Amino acid sequence: MKALMKTAGGVGKVRVQHVPTPSPGQGEVLIRVQVACVCGTDVHIYYDRFANSPPIILGHEFSGVIESIGTGVEAFRKGDRVVSANNPFACGACAICKRGYPNMCPQKKAMGIHSDGCFAEYVKLPANLIHRIPDNISFEEASLMEPLAVATHAVSHRCSIEQGDTVVVFGPGAIGILAAQVARAENAKNIVLVGTTRDEAVRFACADELGLETLNIEKVGKEGLQRRIDDLTAHAGADVVVEASGSTSAIACGLEMLRKNGRMAISGITGKTKLPIAWDQMVSKAVSLFFCYSSINSDWEKALDLLADKKVQTLPLITHRFELEQWKDAFDKLEKLEAVRPVFQIGA
Ligand SMILES: [Zn+2]
Ligand SMILES: [Zn+2]
Repeated sequence: MKALMKTAGGVGKVRVQHVPTPSPGQGEVLIRVQVACVCGTDVHIYYDRFANSPPIILGHEFSGVIESIGTGVEAFRKGDRVVSANNPFACGACAICKRGYPNMCPQKKAMGIHSDGCFAEYVKLPANLIHRIPDNISFEEASLMEPLAVATHAVSHRCSIEQGDTVVVFGPGAIGILAAQVARAENAKNIVLVGTTRDEAVRFACADELGLETLNIEKVGKEGLQRRIDDLTAHAGADVVVEASGSTSAIACGLEMLRKNGRMAISGITGKTKLPIAWDQMVSKAVSLFFCYSSINSDWEKALDLLADKKVQTLPLITHRFELEQWKDAFDKLEKLEAVRPVFQIGA
């Protein structure tokens, strides 16, 4: 089969190759990939800025159809339309797995990062990660299930939204746009999606299409954002901040915007080992910080419901469509922020 591989460590070392089609073992299914999305993580792996385990097939966001089934799999049939959570090789037996968090298992090998991923004609995965796609969701819509599950995990499972909340989301990439929609679906009253001038052409246009309020902090400054939150909350401050930008100035600004007892959901990675942080301010405001990593099965169930009920839309995030051979164009578009999600139409 055709597959987009990271063949070795270092910058680049990415190419389309022919590799043997895997066959599913005990408890596994083989999925024929339909649509796969390019994520910032893939670009980071291209540059070797994100820990990875080559040689591997890249890609972790996709939808597909079950092609064949290994022994001991009862829940699925050939032809089922499916998506998969990204916790392969989680042991299921350690304390953190038993608490229901396979996303944190030390034995987990995330697909497309430490094990073979979905930028290929087929991907083999454990059946216990697989979720059926409801009939009213297309393969394209479902291909963004992984980032939607990550956003659902951060906003809903970790942080939670209360009716009437004012939510400020930093970082209008796919996770930020999806997190804003999850907050809206969970009855947040006001949502402000904060970005910079670089975000205006494509990412803010996508947010606009989804009816989300955007704010360019480079244009209005921190004071402008503060004024907007003051207006929305009668000077109380934001109930919730979602940090999906990885920008250190956004983290500092977000903490400042929080009200007393406010909550912050953090999924952005800064690439730094240490940050100066307004510790005493956080103590005096008694804020709660929720650091969020990947997703668990219940997030996938909830996210599929949100999609099926049309409370969240993923299609407007798909800005470009490519063949697998055009992978470099797709990576470039994402890197230059000219795309929210470029997708590969592999089986479609
Ligand atoms: Zn991703
Ligand atoms: Zn485990």
